[in-house]
Amino acid sequence: MAMADMRPPIESGCPDGFQYMHPTMRRNFGLWKYHTDPKPGVLRHVAESGEEIFTVKVGTQRILDVFSLRELTSIGDEFADGYIRFTIRSNVEYYVTDESKVDPLIEAVEKLGYVVGGTKNSVTSLSHTQGWLHCDIPGTDASGVVKSMMDELIDEFKSWNMPNRVHITTSCCQINCGGQGDIAINVQHTKPPKIDHAQVSNVCERPSVVARCPVAAIRPAMVDGKPSLEVDEKKCICCGACFPPCPPMMINDAEHSKLAVWVGGNHSNARGKPTFQKLVASAIPNNPPRWPEAAGIVKLILKCYKEDARDWERVGEWVERIGWPRFFELTGLPFTKYHIDNWRGARASLNASTHIRF
Ligand code: SF4
Ligand code: SF4
Repeated sequence: MAMADMRPPIESGCPDGFQYMHPTMRRNFGLWKYHTDPKPGVLRHVAESGEEIFTVKVGTQRILDVFSLRELTSIGDEFADGYIRFTIRSNVEYYVTDESKVDPLIEAVEKLGYVVGGTKNSVTSLSHTQGWLHCDIPGTDASGVVKSMMDELIDEFKSWNMPNRVHITTSCCQINCGGQGDIAINVQHTKPPKIDHAQVSNVCERPSVVARCPVAAIRPAMVDGKPSLEVDEKKCICCGACFPPCPPMMINDAEHSKLAVWVGGNHSNARGKPTFQKLVASAIPNNPPRWPEAAGIVKLILKCYKEDARDWERVGEWVERIGWPRFFELTGLPFTKYHIDNWRGARASLNASTHIRF
């Protein structure tokens, strides 16, 4: 086919963000001189040109309905020249060039029940994974954990009381999201999957399920004359990776799917090399609607961090300085044999730096 006949590609990716950017930000892109923090939730950026812009950060309930979105965007129309941005933690940011509009904007959002904060050394909104809405593996309702935890930590969102910024993450399965936090609340399955043999041949492509298991614990099998699968339960590490390609491998369980809390994850190379999170509490009841046990552990860790860390130490840096034994002493969390990572495969197979390797 001649080049002239080729159909042009249809661009279906992310649109160019510049068209949605506040004109003051567009004009000064890459030319910012410094920023200050006038109050919690508000940033003031000053450009080389002398222009300045205020950012007001607002925490939301994360999963937003159309009514709330209309409310939030009409505030943007009234006070922020019609510009609004959602951060990766689902905060809403408004951009205001007229300083006299900052306080009325804050008043308007607070009147509707939203909170302003999440900047500098605060606990910012929890990172949200919500498999029930868009993913195929969830074992719990992560948005419920996020909402109840944010309700508990609302004062820490609105103030600058922490030694440094705290990022908290969640996950609704055991294998994917939730690895990027100072503190992470992740799902933990504790039993191998139960197999609904009647459904396997209707729903699952057996070779891809077998290939999915990281410890080769799944084998094809015939059960009641039908093609199915079997699991070597001694090998199974209860990761849940077989559930997405084969929902009849039922790993989610009201009693045995638990939560675990991990501490000290860092994805960036900013001041030190990236670090893996470490398990500090496991087998925490997955207890909706308010998850009090998990919330209690997170609040306990935050209290110890607040009292003991030096200024500007992140959670992971604090623990590395005082040592993990001292961390368990301070928090009073039990240290068991299950906290010891004796899996050597990680050294060869997992990335431990953000550098690309070929
Ligand atoms: S944590 Fe797991 S189930 Fe939840 S969104 Fe991420 S990959 Fe999907
Ligand atoms: S839960 Fe994980 S380890 Fe167990 S059988 Fe499924 S894929 Fe394999």
